[in-house]
This record gives sequence, structure tokens and C-alpha cells, in this order.
Amino acid sequence: MEPSEIIKVLPGFGGFDFPYEKADVVFVGVPLDLTSSYRSGYRFAPAKIREASANLETFVTSIGIDVFEALNISDLGDIVVTQTDIVTTGQKIEKIVRKIRRDGKFPFLLGGEHTLTVFSTVAFDDVFIVQLDAHRDLREEYLGDKICHATVMRRILDRVPAEKVIQLGVRSWSKEEEEWLRKTRIRAYTSEDISTNLDGVMREIRDLIGSESVYLTIDLDVLDPAFAPAVATPEPSGLSTAEILKIVRKIAEMKLVGVDVVELVPQYDNGNTAFVAARIIYEILAVLGSKK
Ligand code: MN
Ligand code: MN
Repeated sequence: MEPSEIIKVLPGFGGFDFPYEKADVVFVGVPLDLTSSYRSGYRFAPAKIREASANLETFVTSIGIDVFEALNISDLGDIVVTQTDIVTTGQKIEKIVRKIRRDGKFPFLLGGEHTLTVFSTVAFDDVFIVQLDAHRDLREEYLGDKICHATVMRRILDRVPAEKVIQLGVRSWSKEEEEWLRKTRIRAYTSEDISTNLDGVMREIRDLIGSESVYLTIDLDVLDPAFAPAVATPEPSGLSTAEILKIVRKIAEMKLVGVDVVELVPQYDNGNTAFVAARIIYEILAVLGSKK
């Protein structure tokens, strides 16, 4: 596979053009836009998150550092996606994440539909996977697809033990998922658990994960539609922006090894959702920078 088949060069995250070789953190856009059952248009999301990132302060006040001073950040642009062939696209996602990991750098993926996480997580052995999502994404198949936005975590659980998965902010799942969950116990905290006891929930998670590695997948529909309206399947009664920032800071303090931010559909945005996504990303980068 030629590099040009994998990466299409676009203006970089934060407007910076930092060489890959010297980077600590490497951004990759994954404009995968294939399996939405309602709103589609994910393919435009990475560019919109980058655009928002260029219009936010890079000094993160909660941590007190400028992310571009604290970290060397490179953006490879977008993976060239085959919108009709999820397996070929999946191989590209896995390949690029493996390379970034092998080179000792931190991969940060900009989705794209949540399905990309099925492939990005293959590049990590023995990590906790923390999922921020309104949905549990645990269906065996959905509308005839075994690999789609509604089956993401089930496909991951085909190869990752259930005790390595933690779901946060969930509030919507099917009867089929409920029945499957009776046999497979997965640690999960609803959006209500979080709004009533955020500090307690985060303490439990930190005690559980300890010093082990964490991959964080952020489905933006975990936020309340009031804060993040432009997602493929909005789900009322979600987290506030303040809550999610607190959560991602706590997770970034652990041994975080990779992140993806998924499910933005910019056509439904007044700009807010892309800016929330970029804010979340800066918050995580600031914590990573503070640990360097
Ligand atoms: Mn979701
Ligand atoms: Mn999801």
C-alpha cells in the first residue's frame, strides 16, 4: 500500500505543520461515512474539528499550559477512505495506528463514524477501553451489518475481555443488548450516575484501572443534544460540556495511550458541536502535556 493511498494531506490540527518524526502526538482524520442509520455526513467531520481547533485558545486554563508549547503535535491529514468497503478502510486504520504506536507516538483519531474504533483498537494489546457514549453499541448486528456504528463495542468484545471495557454516560440500549448483558457483565455508568456522583464514579474507575493502559473512545452523542446537537443519533439527557471536560481530564491523568473522537455530523451543526469536540481534545492534550 503506497502512503498516498493511506493519507490525503489537509490543513493540520491547530493549524500547525509539525514534522511527524519529531511529534509526540499524531492526529489522523478518518472520514468514514458508511453505516449511519439516520443522519450521515461524517466524512466532513475531521475538517470541521480542525477548523474549530484553529479558533480556540491553545492555552488551556484548567491546566495552565499551552498545548503546542508543551507537546510536539503533528497532523497526518485524512486516511483515504473507501466508503463502500469497510474492510479495506479498516486495514488502513489499523495500519496507520500500528505505525504511530511503533514509532513511540500517541495516536489521536478524528472521526468519522464510531465504526473506526473496531479497527483502531486492534493496534493495542491489553488495554482498558473506556467508551463515552449515549449508546452501548453492543448489538450483534444492525440492519444486516455486523460491522457498523451500532455494533462497535460488540465487535471489540469478540477479542477483548469484558472486564477490560468501561462504558460511561450510557442511557440508551435495546432489549437484545439488555438480554446479552445478563450473560456478559460490563462495567457501565449511566449519564444519571455521572450527574449525581461524578467524582465517585471517576474514583471507582481510577481504582479499577490503576496503572494499566487506557484507550479512550469519545462518541460525541454522550453529550446532551443541547451541547452537541450535530451527532448522527442524538439522545436526550446526556452529559454537559463541563462534565465531559472533567471526565476526560481524569482519564488523561491515567496511562492514556490513544484517543478517538467520533460521530460528528457537521451539516446539523451551528458550529457548537465541532467546537466542543476541539475543546475536549485540547483538554486531553493539556493533561498529556503536563505529564511530559
Ligand atoms: Mn452513540
Ligand atoms: Mn457509539
